[in-house]
Amino acid sequence: PYDLLVVGGGPAGAAAAIYAARKGIRTGIVADRFGGQVLDTMAIENFISVSATEGPKLVANLEQHVLDYDVDLMQGQRAAGIQRNGLIEVPLESGATLKSRSVVLSTGARWREMNVPGEHEYRGRGVAYCPHCDGPLFKGKSVAVIGGGNSGIEAAIDLAGIVEHVTVLEFADTLRADEVLQRKARSMSNIDIIASAMTTEVLGDGQRVTGLTYVDRETDEQHQLALAGIFVQIGLVPNTEWLGDSIDLTAHGEIEINQRGETSMPGVFAAGDVSSVPYKQIIIAMGSGSTAALSAFDYLIREPIS
Ligand code: FAD
Repeated sequence: PYDLLVVGGGPAGAAAAIYAARKGIRTGIVADRFGGQVLDTMAIENFISVSATEGPKLVANLEQHVLDYDVDLMQGQRAAGIQRNGLIEVPLESGATLKSRSVVLSTGARWREMNVPGEHEYRGRGVAYCPHCDGPLFKGKSVAVIGGGNSGIEAAIDLAGIVEHVTVLEFADTLRADEVLQRKARSMSNIDIIASAMTTEVLGDGQRVTGLTYVDRETDEQHQLALAGIFVQIGLVPNTEWLGDSIDLTAHGEIEINQRGETSMPGVFAAGDVSSVPYKQIIIAMGSGSTAALSAFDYLIREPIS
């Protein structure tokens, strides 16, 4: 068995594996796709100490750093569950089962998409999902935020300080965001809010986003907006479906962790976007992956000798 098995190979999992391997314990990572969301990221300008990089480049560095140590890296494998049976067992979709004395869960999350024409084509070329990451790329330009929940209105307020103008499009006839956020957004002169708006297409010139079309659900009229960017804020979905009810999740489906990264199952820790750690960012995922691995080590040295 492993001393520590990491499930998920994004920045959180890579950091956990490196911290564990540096303790000299037997470490494995099993990942569907090593690199995770970072593979889909173009410009990264907030990875502190690196002024600018690109996702695939950062992933290559992550992989090299992991392989500097004696870590079993199992790629193209999906975990299908977790149970304690003396050791912790992680069955894979392939039919094999991995066993370990401790586990870090770091299977990340995915942004809910609008599923309209143009969204995929212009992803990273005007279609964005993370205002903390990509907001400054639209300085002085007009953008839309899709979604009037808390994350959408927070994004609009955040972006309004950087860009020229923000239009919020909400599908329902009212916003779901907290009243205090709505009041703040309505007080800002460069934010417009349009309710009952169903986004129907992302428009572009072949290179970059130039706007979008939406239908007013009350009048059925079609409208067009000229935009440089579209921030999709309709939900971040944690990759926890495979856990069933083995581990306690929050109301949003995230793995509930405490300050030390402990979950409800002894010996099992979680980190990064899949967990309840506040704010979903690369540097935060790495920090929480390191926390989880150090907590796992702490757990292992206290385990009774069998
Ligand atoms: P992820 O990166 O999601 O990795 C999850 C890992 O788990 C992957 O290896 C995946 O294959 C694996 N996995 C999932 N399910 C299973 C399973 N059942 N079995 C085995 N493996 C599984 N953050 C920034 O800080 N700066 C940016 O500029 C930035 N830009 C972004 C741009 C885009 C388009 C996106 C989508 C995100 C961006 N982010 C950015 C956010 C950042 O990428 C995430 O916060 C970070 O990648 C989270 O790391 P993670 O390790 O927790 O999860």
